[in-house]
Amino acid sequence: MTPLTLTPLSEWGFFTLPPRPCVIAGPCSAETEAQVLDTAAGLRAFGINVFRAGIWKPRTHPGSFEGIGVEGLRWLQKVKSEYGMKVCTEVASAKHVFECLKYGVDMVWIGARTTANPFLVQEIAEALRDTGIPVLVKNPVNPDLDLWIGALERFNREGITKLGAIHRGVSSSEKIKYRNDPLWNMAVELRARIPQLPIFADPSHMGGSREYLRELSQRAMDLGLEGLMIESHCSPQCALSDAGQQIEPPALQALLESLTVRDATSPDEEFRENLSRLRERIDVIDENLIRELAERMKVSAEIGAAKKAHNVAIIQTGRWERVLEKVDAAARQYGLDPKFVRAIFDAIHEESVQKQNSL
Ligand code: PEP
Ligand code: MN
Repeated sequence: MTPLTLTPLSEWGFFTLPPRPCVIAGPCSAETEAQVLDTAAGLRAFGINVFRAGIWKPRTHPGSFEGIGVEGLRWLQKVKSEYGMKVCTEVASAKHVFECLKYGVDMVWIGARTTANPFLVQEIAEALRDTGIPVLVKNPVNPDLDLWIGALERFNREGITKLGAIHRGVSSSEKIKYRNDPLWNMAVELRARIPQLPIFADPSHMGGSREYLRELSQRAMDLGLEGLMIESHCSPQCALSDAGQQIEPPALQALLESLTVRDATSPDEEFRENLSRLRERIDVIDENLIRELAERMKVSAEIGAAKKAHNVAIIQTGRWERVLEKVDAAARQYGLDPKFVRAIFDAIHEESVQKQNSL
């Protein structure tokens, strides 16, 4: 993978950073001019600068509200001119992009269903070339990190450097309390693979219900994500899409104020030096742990070879129980949780048995 060329989020002219989170808020769908303007006014009142509203809606069933279409872009223009906010919407085709350009949309996002389709992503990326418009790419509906990264690469190859990701969870075949499985690990992996890429969380589509917005937003902050995209509607109970997950602007203000946001680092030099000394110690300890583990595996292999030579079974009844008893006692002596230590030794035992089996 060639590294992406990215413009830092603070240089997009959309957000100031710090403080986190950078917030994008607005209704799931633009429904009427009054709804769009009322919601924008409510958000602007407490300092939200970036407004979202779906104009074309990808719905599961035909016949549900599929978005107001181009007419809604005029309302977004009004949000810009009356409240000085930046506006963004979802695009799912080159045609959507051209309409957005005509009406001065400031930023676009790629929906989860579109990210999963490289043909569409390519078409949209080409339509956005040379526009300078930032693009936020939602993760695909399935847990495929490479497909997500592939979409980001397609935009970057067309010269789009104001790029970000939105983590909105993935659909799950299991019954879970959220609408989508948060699978935070996907965002953590993305950060590890592309450290400079700004990541937003979308607790609205992740949770599917307003009651989960706070816990999911807090989690996103704890993981160090830069931003939040949250659905907000001036009268959520009347919303034509995603009514159960939208909140009124004052509720969003209260939610944001309730978040505990820790800094990624501190300006205190003594603290930073101390932290780096402690980390060096951890690194040495980790190395020692690995060396000891390797030593243990070597001895275990010798035992395996001896058993084989004498035609003795690999698993010896009673032996492992005795090891565990000793390990359990030692764990308690050193103040470690025996369950935690047991889990480690189970993994070690499994590996040892497997290695002896393959001799
Ligand atoms: C949306 O943001 O309105 C939307 C449809 O989200 P997603 O693509 O994450 O389902
Ligand atoms: Mn929605």
